[in-house]
Amino acid sequence: MTKFSDLNLNPKVLKAVEEAGYETPTPIQAGAIPPALEGRDVLGIAQTGTGKTASFTLPMITALARGRARARMPRSLVLCPTRELAAQVAENFDIYAKNVKLTKALLIGGVSFKEQDMLIDKGVDVLIATPGRLLDHFERGKLILSDVKIMVVDEADRMLDMGFIPDIERIFGLTPFTRQTLFFSATMAPEIERITNTFLSAPARIEVARQATTGENITQGVVMFKGSRKDREASEKRRLLRALIDAEGDKLTNGIVFCNRKTDVDIVAKSLKKYDYDAAPIHGDLDQSQRTRTLDAFRNGELKILVASDVAARGLDVPSVSHVFNFDVPSHAEDYVHRIGRTGRAGRDGAAMMICVPRDEKNLADIERLVQKEIPRIENPLKDTAPKAAESEDEAAPAPSRSRSRRSSPKSDEVSVKKDGPKRDGDKKESDKPSRSSNSKPPRERRADRGPEVVGMGDHMPSFIALSFEDRRAS
Ligand code: AMP
Repeated sequence: MTKFSDLNLNPKVLKAVEEAGYETPTPIQAGAIPPALEGRDVLGIAQTGTGKTASFTLPMITALARGRARARMPRSLVLCPTRELAAQVAENFDIYAKNVKLTKALLIGGVSFKEQDMLIDKGVDVLIATPGRLLDHFERGKLILSDVKIMVVDEADRMLDMGFIPDIERIFGLTPFTRQTLFFSATMAPEIERITNTFLSAPARIEVARQATTGENITQGVVMFKGSRKDREASEKRRLLRALIDAEGDKLTNGIVFCNRKTDVDIVAKSLKKYDYDAAPIHGDLDQSQRTRTLDAFRNGELKILVASDVAARGLDVPSVSHVFNFDVPSHAEDYVHRIGRTGRAGRDGAAMMICVPRDEKNLADIERLVQKEIPRIENPLKDTAPKAAESEDEAAPAPSRSRSRRSSPKSDEVSVKKDGPKRDGDKKESDKPSRSSNSKPPRERRADRGPEVVGMGDHMPSFIALSFEDRRAS
């Protein structure tokens, strides 16, 4: 078996790797490091969790250990699709380059240009950036890319999903033709194939096996769920999510709830918080300091539930997550693999649960085809416990006076999502907790005391308004 010491790495880099506790290279490292050290282009088909970050950082540090950067002319460039991934790559550089004198700068949105400009002005060996931010600096005339000797594109398939391919092509064009390119992607979509054919020169192609998708140590399950009414589906789904979380009890030490859309990330996080769960959202529209704070809190165990979009969570290295909840069935089957791969890491036990509404059944079938296994159906924990008349999210809901409650006070029923709120038509705000305005009791208490409280009716409310309705459709 290959060892790191067989790979011809700079002795100082080797020492840092050993100090990090790694002896044996992973398959992508064993495959990519030797050709990268020879100066060849590399096409690595590997996903997060395979050790791919070290497979490009180690040869880069080795190659850059000699020589110095000139002002505004970085010697290498690493492009990442998200700020978090860029920050993670930067952390890897710090670990592996600690015995070597190299300077680096991280160019990501949400950080002031001034600070970044100062670093670039001094000259950096390694520039780690998201494509948009890099081009912003370039257009401001602060950056010269003609001295780039090594360029890395990380998670190219995610770049494609995020619409960054034109930016990547432009950046390729701004760097010298003679540069070395290390290009990584989990999948090879036709557009990615085209880019690699255009910009890589006779690359060494290293493809590593997909991560074990359905590791024995991850308990998986899916609840097939249909809302009692279309307009109640979203809030009932959130109620089901809470029931799934509750059912796990102490087994849940920390978990990630994945939603397909950013707007739902906000709504679900807000809803959980309202019900006293320790939850916070993370997605690309939140400002950088908030994202960093939330992630740090989750990593340190101060935050129990992270509600996330795929992009924000992709590639994040949180070593132990006990549970993954898929609030939505992901529309790309591959994302299911990435999502559940957040739990059950390093042989630990993990649980991955998903909610599937009828319109997502096709996506569920795609996932089962990909993982070549049926995901066990699990019982809806709310089955038989849901009161007939109040199947909506909050059983303490005042019995809705059908026409009035919806028309007269819809605003107070919403989970308000301000800055990052729903933007698309399909992202309507939904009823989450029907009466908030005059009720100061915590939600759990209110759920228990099922007494009807109707808001906005004044003191003299006719008693029939407070009666609950029979669900006639159910009988
Ligand atoms: P990556 O795919 O680069 O995100 O790496 C996933 C995880 O594997 C990170 O926590 C790395 O620190 C860890 N790792 C990287 N290389 C090795 C190695 N050779 N042996 C064990 N773990 C590694």
